[in-house]
Amino acid sequence: MKTILTGIRANSVLTLGNYLGALLPMVRLSNKYSNEYNINIFVPDLHSIISEVDGDLQENIIRTLKYYLVAGLKINENVHIYRQSHVPAHSELCWILNCNATMGEMGRMTQYKEKSEGKASANVGVFDYPVLMAADILLHDADYVPLGEDQFQHIELTRNVAERFNHRYGEVFTVPVETAKQVEFMGVEKPIRVRDLVNPEKKMSKSTASENSKIMLDDTPEKAAKKIMSATTDSFSDVQFDFETRPGISNLLYIEALLTDTPLTEVVEKWQGETRYGELKKQVAESVSGMLSEFQAKLSAISDEEVLELFTEGEKYANEVANKKLLAVQKAVHLR
Ligand code: AMP
Repeated sequence: MKTILTGIRANSVLTLGNYLGALLPMVRLSNKYSNEYNINIFVPDLHSIISEVDGDLQENIIRTLKYYLVAGLKINENVHIYRQSHVPAHSELCWILNCNATMGEMGRMTQYKEKSEGKASANVGVFDYPVLMAADILLHDADYVPLGEDQFQHIELTRNVAERFNHRYGEVFTVPVETAKQVEFMGVEKPIRVRDLVNPEKKMSKSTASENSKIMLDDTPEKAAKKIMSATTDSFSDVQFDFETRPGISNLLYIEALLTDTPLTEVVEKWQGETRYGELKKQVAESVSGMLSEFQAKLSAISDEEVLELFTEGEKYANEVANKKLLAVQKAVHLR
């Protein structure tokens, strides 16, 4: 059976952008394929400590898994949930792969350049995490790795390192499919990008200082509705969908389509030409606050024990698979 592997960092409460752009699509993909593929959903906690963690990491990890469940993740015997640091083979393989990746290719990683800003004080984890990511993928022979656009370069790196290793030591790793095919598999024409509510030219991000720019999944429904009502629009006189010239109003139409799971063309058709922006804002505010009320009620109904049980079960499976692969790698490089 082929494997799909996916994860999201648990560094803080997530935004509506993370939910609509990453969590929900991952859950839908998992539910669609869990009868024919192994679905590995892991919480990359070793990746979390590369940067600052808001709040308590343990609480964040448990809450992140609850998010998947609230978003509708269906669990069956093919769905495996685990915490990366509870499967020690990930860090072990990372070291072996470090010795098969080059400084040159690592230094070319855009994420590294952006995150380190060329500062000598940047931690080594920021430089090396793409190799840990390669280990996450290769340990489980994952073919498909649904991730955001910003991670595509790391999938290509994983493919290069795997091919190099296989060439040097024999066919040990499954090489994940190339990024274009990953996108095709995810079934989206364009990556989903929810915009900042105050500066709609930018994407909504939890690191933006302005509170009104972003909707957090723990915002009260009333607070979230107010943020939508005060979202930046434009000085045109009617609703039109065009991210280039009217990013603010287009973002609201986009959010409405995603939240109500309605084709964007249908939402645009309904609102096009409307001269009262307030009416559209009211509708989107209602959709957002309705979603949050339901989401938060479901979230508080899931116990920590339930989540820990899923982790324990998944980690048993993940350790078995990972240790077997690690041993094959150790044998290939003559460490065993
Ligand atoms: P980050 O919070 O930037 O680490 O992103 C975690 C995941 O959420 C990645 O897959 C991103 O592509 C996705 N994501 C983050 N912000 C947005 C956004 N505004 N719209 C859509 N997806 C997003």
